[in-house]
Amino acid sequence: MIGVDVQLEKVRERIRQAALAANRSPDEVRLVAVTKTKPVEMIQTAYDAGQRIFGENRIQELEEKRPLLPDDAEWHMIGHVQSNKALKVVLNAAMIHSVDSVKLLRRLDRLADERDRDPRILLEINVSGENSKFGAEDDGEILRLAETAATAKRLRWIGLMTMAPHVAPELELRRVFAGLRELRDRLATRFGATLPELSMGMSSDYPFAIAEGATLVRVGSAIFGSR
Ligand SMILES: *Cc1c(COP(=O)(O)O)cnc(C)c1O
Repeated sequence: MIGVDVQLEKVRERIRQAALAANRSPDEVRLVAVTKTKPVEMIQTAYDAGQRIFGENRIQELEEKRPLLPDDAEWHMIGHVQSNKALKVVLNAAMIHSVDSVKLLRRLDRLADERDRDPRILLEINVSGENSKFGAEDDGEILRLAETAATAKRLRWIGLMTMAPHVAPELELRRVFAGLRELRDRLATRFGATLPELSMGMSSDYPFAIAEGATLVRVGSAIFGSR
């Protein structure tokens, strides 16, 4: 059986190669190891091999696993946040990739203020317009979300996130990833915001995402095996 540490090293090397091929520094791309459904022993193996950023798409699971790993592991919430779970997210996640509505954003900001937290957030955008049921989609919705993020009291808005279609040709995937980058550029100008982070790319497509500017790639099965 091939171990998590071996797979992790392969992913790191592919990230490095994809960055260099795009004339980017490999340091610009950080790996979020997506640990959903995987046992703590596997996550600890990745930690021991130097991995520090872990992503979960259910807050319950993130909350359970976080205390079982060393304190300097950084946990990112990458899945849809239900409003009744918003407090748990604020208390447990260092970064929230999946802020997809004004209502959720306002709630997270209020809870962050009450609990004296300053989580980093990304706005989830449905670039492909067909793939996912979450994420802001039309221009008006995106602008309202961005405006609310830009004026949040405690949440630190640092970029955008998207999910590409599961199965699509390279050209289509790259169009989606480039679309997120271009939207980021427009929003940064319009709101005078610094938005360095683009969370895009998963096991099947992260090299394409890196070619289009990804700074955070969310990779699960390529490291931990299929679910
Ligand atoms: C599960 C998940 C991933 C990782 O998917 P893999 O194909 O296993 O790499 C990335 N992003 C989100 C939002 C996920 O839920």
